[in-house]
Amino acid sequence: MATGLARNNRALRGGLDLGGTKIQAVVVSRTNRVVGEARIPTPMDGGPEAVASALAEAVAEAAAAAGVATRSLAGVGVGSPGSIDVAAGTVSQAGNLPGWDGTFPLGDRLSKLLGCPVRLGNDVQVANRAEMRLGAGKGRSSFLGVAWGTGVGGSVVIDGRLWLGRGAAGEIGHTVVVREGAPCTCGRRGCVEAYAGRAAMELTARKRADRGEKTVLFRLMKQFGRNRLTSGVWARALDEGDPMAHDLIDRAVAMLGTGIASAINLLDIGTVIIEGGLGIRLGQPYADQIAVAMNPHLFLPERAPEVQVAALGDLGGAIGAALLVSAG
Ligand SMILES: [Zn+2]
Repeated sequence: MATGLARNNRALRGGLDLGGTKIQAVVVSRTNRVVGEARIPTPMDGGPEAVASALAEAVAEAAAAAGVATRSLAGVGVGSPGSIDVAAGTVSQAGNLPGWDGTFPLGDRLSKLLGCPVRLGNDVQVANRAEMRLGAGKGRSSFLGVAWGTGVGGSVVIDGRLWLGRGAAGEIGHTVVVREGAPCTCGRRGCVEAYAGRAAMELTARKRADRGEKTVLFRLMKQFGRNRLTSGVWARALDEGDPMAHDLIDRAVAMLGTGIASAINLLDIGTVIIEGGLGIRLGQPYADQIAVAMNPHLFLPERAPEVQVAALGDLGGAIGAALLVSAG
């Protein structure tokens, strides 16, 4: 198998999903089969330079697992948060990545580190494209993707085309669900993300714990060797019946339901795909809860859309990033 792969190296492509807590790398074949993968934590110190090095390390590890060197890949796609300039290969306003102020030439830097072409895309949009072509959206011409993770992102596919608007379409996380509500990472108030984003939920959990409210969340975080409340920590706290975790997740589900229902009233799309680290970790039972939370807000509840978890799981973002590159 290694020999076969070596002969067709140029058909192999890399994909990187840059998340707020982890970097997922894959190497895929011409038919988008995953032939190597690696996952490492997103560095919390060192800003964009450290992130670029970690991205290179992750894809090198995935390439090694596939039996190739990164310079032999046809290219590497990167799904990144923030504002992406595809032509310039730069990332700006990546608010969920620590120390990422201003604009950073991620494409160039990474290309030098890897010795192959690099192409950037928006993290949510690439995950969505993967679901559209290979996952839960396959065979559906229109759907709304909702990425429930550190923040809350979204994307809109209408008649088989990803609707980009003027470049920033799909920001369902910044749909306002409470006027003058909780402060959001975007600087405004009352957005879905201010209640449902993992970063926002962690801030709230810390405040409540500091006020003396009991929770297992921070004990589990230490036990897991993490410095943030990861999706795994939330899932375990829910399993243990932690009241604070249930309260915050219930509120997140309610706000997601409200925001998504409003989007459905506007677009009348029949499928909602729940993506993102937390959405995928919590799985279909929580997607079902989001559907229930949507119901009272739907203009046509008798024609409620189906709400499904992303079929490609937590590799979807990285596989979608690999789709940014065409095989050599
Ligand atoms: Zn916001």
